[in-house]
Amino acid sequence: MSERDAASDRSERHVVRFDGVSFGFGERPVLEDVSLTIDSGAFLGLVGPNGSGKTTLVELLLGLRRPDEGRVTLFGEPAHAFDDGERLGYVAQHATEAASRMPVTVREVVRMGRYPHRLVGRFSDADRRAIDEALDRVDVTDLADRRVGNLSGGQRQRVFIARALAAEADLLVLDEPTVGVDMESRERFYDLLHDLNEEGLTIVLIEHDIGVVTTHATEIACLNRQLYFHGDPETFVETDALADAYGGNQAPIHHSH
Ligand code: ADP
Repeated sequence: MSERDAASDRSERHVVRFDGVSFGFGERPVLEDVSLTIDSGAFLGLVGPNGSGKTTLVELLLGLRRPDEGRVTLFGEPAHAFDDGERLGYVAQHATEAASRMPVTVREVVRMGRYPHRLVGRFSDADRRAIDEALDRVDVTDLADRRVGNLSGGQRQRVFIARALAAEADLLVLDEPTVGVDMESRERFYDLLHDLNEEGLTIVLIEHDIGVVTTHATEIACLNRQLYFHGDPETFVETDALADAYGGNQAPIHHSH
């Protein structure tokens, strides 16, 4: 294998890599010496108390912020310089609330996912097919011409997933997607994430409900400024990482692999 092949092989396996990353807002440390890799095909649940740095970690991962120390790479490139936007689907916290005030239809939101693929500003048949398939995949075809503002929280979340699917994203990042969504829709939503992950989509999910995340994610990262744990859900529930992270004890880092 040539050096170049080896490099691209590494970058495909590690979708995300944090190497000794520290970050603070002014004097205030928010993340301290975080090292973490997320492999292609992972479904990572990111947990930790309020204010523990989860959203900040995701913003660093997406290249929206730069670390004070250490390195963040995304698909093998420095995250802040990564410009292959269609490979990423990001549903920010409260994004769907903001969308509820926009006078756009479901199809229009999903179509946005296709913008980076368009040739000379026009949608091709392939684009239209990708949009229809994405609508169908998350079961919102019947709602395609409705305004997103008139949908329930759960339906709106699925529309945002459809946007990422239309974009053919390789990595889907969700920040507390089910806040304000009823229990039944939540279950459906997590079943959908599970199926998409099985089909090969890499998922990073911030979720405050530990029970939900340990049931559905295939790996857990537990954060409170430092990384307290990264490994499989079964090991996570057996360790003291959760109590340590939430109790503010000193952090032994448990790596279960
Ligand atoms: P979480 O997502 O785990 O709730 P955040 O990453 O949102 O945590 O926040 C981590 C810490 O950084 C919190 O103490 C928060 O108040 C602070 N913080 C977040 N965003 C900013 C900002 N833009 N400016 C200053 N402090 C911030």
